[in-house]
Amino acid sequence: MVDSVKLNDSTSIPQLGFGTYLVPPEETVATVAAALEVGYRHIDTAQMYGNEAQVGEAVAASGIARDDIYLTSKLNNSKHGRDDVLRSFDETLEKLKVDRLDLFLIHWPLPTRYDGDFVATWKAMLELKEDGRLTSVGVSNFQPDHLQQIVDATGVAPAVNQIEAHPYFRNDAARLASHEHAIAVEAWGPLGQGAVLKDAVIGEIAAETGRAASQVILRWHLQRGDIIFPKSMRRERMEENFAIFDFTLNDEQVSRIDALDQGAAGRVGPDPDTFDWIG
Ligand code: NAD
Repeated sequence: MVDSVKLNDSTSIPQLGFGTYLVPPEETVATVAAALEVGYRHIDTAQMYGNEAQVGEAVAASGIARDDIYLTSKLNNSKHGRDDVLRSFDETLEKLKVDRLDLFLIHWPLPTRYDGDFVATWKAMLELKEDGRLTSVGVSNFQPDHLQQIVDATGVAPAVNQIEAHPYFRNDAARLASHEHAIAVEAWGPLGQGAVLKDAVIGEIAAETGRAASQVILRWHLQRGDIIFPKSMRRERMEENFAIFDFTLNDEQVSRIDALDQGAAGRVGPDPDTFDWIG
């Protein structure tokens, strides 16, 4: 049974969802349909992934009530600034074939682009909530000082900060800063995009618990309280990643996984302070 995490805007989000980064559009309908069949009710996509329309098609064809599926998308890096935020949000709703989105995120802060003015983009994101077509608004890849700047400027903290986090890169600085503002943490790349699966310590704990490596890692995230949405295009892996509610890691096992942290060297993705790809 997937738990819900309460957000600072009084809504809630399923703690386990399904990621769609690098799911090619031509395979997205079947992939998301399979995830929904397995039981996932939270789908994470982005304008950048180029598969929103196919996610929408799978959701529409599933017959599952709109309010029973939690949908997240993210603002493309090329769409910062008020006009593009408003316009591209309309396009996202059209592509997803919904009249309401659960969560929309600024995908990257891009502090070296747009004159470093992600505050203006954040203000436009807040406008989107006004007419009821967006339920929650958040950010992704925001560093502690980025969070502080938008909160200082608007008095409104994002509902979530979606950041890279996994055993090789716990990302404690951004996690703690998020928690200080009562922002829920979504851990992207929860398996380190595959890098952590072959780790020897994870393998030992998998043997101790009789579980798969992926399940051990995902369970570690759940016990930290983070929201996760692992991605796989293979149904048996979707099922494996969903079957993580009937066992617990003990404190000693959690500590051994905590100790795998390599700091910034453990990142599998770019550094948000310098990442400037607009596409
Ligand atoms: P992930 O950590 O979920 O790892 C995915 C990789 O692990 C794939 O190669 C998959 O084949 C493999 N895998 C998954 N389950 C497995 C299993 N049970 N056994 C063996 N291998 C398995 O990486 P991700 O997809 O990058 O991250 C999850 C989601 O986070 C994305 O799909 C996307 O929705 C989101 N994301 C967001 C950002 C951002 O900047 N906000 C960046 C990257 C990803």
